[in-house]
Amino acid sequence: MDLRHCPFCGKPAQCKVEEDHHGNFYSLGCSNSDCVAHEIYYAVPEEDLPMEQAAFNWNRRFI
Ligand SMILES: [Zn+2]
Repeated sequence: MDLRHCPFCGKPAQCKVEEDHHGNFYSLGCSNSDCVAHEIYYAVPEEDLPMEQAAFNWNRRFI
């Protein structure tokens, strides 16, 4: 599933997998660091999934 471009500034959105002491998580946000859109985070489940779910949520977020 493709990410929609940012609804605020029109730049491409990005989804990264990051890691902290709690484990892995997805970070979805705008690729423009000056943008007002805040990044949103999803824990990465043990089963693989949801880059797709994360993308789905991002795409619905600003409707
Ligand atoms: Zn943006």
